[in-house]
Amino acid sequence: MKRRFFRTKWNVAFVAVTFVACVAVIIYASTKIDRAVTVDSVPAAQKMIILDAGHGGLDGGCSTPDGKTEKVINLNIMLSVKDLCEFFGMPVEATRLKDTSIHDKGVKGIRNQKMSDMDNRLAVFNKYSDAVCISIHQNTFTDPQYSGAQMFYSENLPENEQLASIMQNLFVQNLQPDNQRETKPCGNELFLCHYSENPSLMIECGFLSNPEEAARLTDKNYQKLVAFTVFTGINEFVGSV
Ligand SMILES: [Zn+2]
Repeated sequence: MKRRFFRTKWNVAFVAVTFVACVAVIIYASTKIDRAVTVDSVPAAQKMIILDAGHGGLDGGCSTPDGKTEKVINLNIMLSVKDLCEFFGMPVEATRLKDTSIHDKGVKGIRNQKMSDMDNRLAVFNKYSDAVCISIHQNTFTDPQYSGAQMFYSENLPENEQLASIMQNLFVQNLQPDNQRETKPCGNELFLCHYSENPSLMIECGFLSNPEEAARLTDKNYQKLVAFTVFTGINEFVGSV
């Protein structure tokens, strides 16, 4: 009985913390995003939302000029998106919840571990027949002048372009009014998007090679605004299909 009591108590504490975190993100977004911040009703027909924070473990992804790694930014944003989805009653599954690779145990060598990690992420993308899959990344380029979010999608499913377009527009409206980037189709070089059997999107939230954008993307409050934007994009897409 005592154990159960504690478990319940911890559950209540967890729900309370998530609630406070979500309300904080929504209030913060409403003060920073220069348009009405509303979340229309979440559709009754629930789709599973699959969230993927790119890289993890030994694979840091790209990094800022002062060495902050993409994998941490991706995870922070993803965890806030997850909180928001759950707060609004959407079922969510994440490919990773901490700074780790999800390769099979016993796989040796970085290359093999990376392949196993990607196979396992794809297995999560394809685990449900009615899901929406979002992979969160940060971009980099040799020339530091480039900045701005950009959405990548596979043309294998017609809904993917719609998902990319909704998300690109929301990033422009909410965060980057000068962003002129267009959504871009990908091939099998983007493994998860290409081989996913569900509507999927790879979000490059911005360029870590651009010092100003890197400073924003490593800021916890900006990460919350990005997360809120991703969540509203998911909600809008789910309501439109
Ligand atoms: Zn990446």
